[in-house]
Amino acid sequence: MTTAPEDSVAAREAMVARQLRARGIHDDRTLEAMRRVAREKFFPRSDRRFAYRDGAFSIGLGQTISQPFMVALMTEALGVTRQSRVLEVGTGSGYQAAILAELARHVYTVERLPELSRRARRALCEELGYGNISFRVGDGTLGWPEQAPFDRFMVTAGAPARPQTLIEQLAPGGQGVAPVGSHGFQTLMRYRKGKDGAVEEEELCQCVFVKLIGKEGWQER
Ligand code: SAH
Repeated sequence: MTTAPEDSVAAREAMVARQLRARGIHDDRTLEAMRRVAREKFFPRSDRRFAYRDGAFSIGLGQTISQPFMVALMTEALGVTRQSRVLEVGTGSGYQAAILAELARHVYTVERLPELSRRARRALCEELGYGNISFRVGDGTLGWPEQAPFDRFMVTAGAPARPQTLIEQLAPGGQGVAPVGSHGFQTLMRYRKGKDGAVEEEELCQCVFVKLIGKEGWQER
């Protein structure tokens, strides 16, 4: 089954109304970005009919594209502005990067699996024409020192502990969100760095993400 463009627009309207707005997402910029981005472009062709389902979905290599609600919640919580330079850890399908790129000045996205990074770049740059996303293959727990400091960061895989290096790479006044906890269950945390460099942390909600694997993540096995 293929999705005609008009079906895709209708499916996005329904997603925004039923999955996002009805559950308390109210930031207009976030809702508008989710209404604009064609989520099916981040699914393999054979799976595009599942693009607007209310859940996470397997994208291969043991990884998932996050549930639309979780993408919206994290985006809203991050408070991205037009001026923000944003670091994303865990490019995955590239969908969250697209939402961030709609809202921010520039998105720097890091993925440890080369094949996923390559696919995401193809969808984002070649198919959709984003010019404000930079890609890197490597361990995102170490951030992207050459591009730091960042105004915002978002980790889209579950970390075992507070992402210390990413917090260090935040500019004063910056903030970041990350799921932190055990393998199967995390708390979505928000970190805010004051103008004086002091860091405050806040628990936002419970969530389940695939593992963040790296130096400041879980060990690969
Ligand atoms: N943001 C994605 C969802 C990502 S799933 C989307 O919108 O589709 C989590 C991703 O994090 C996976 O692709 C996984 O390979 C990646 N990942 C895990 N550990 C990582 C690390 N240390 N650095 C970069 N990427 C990592």
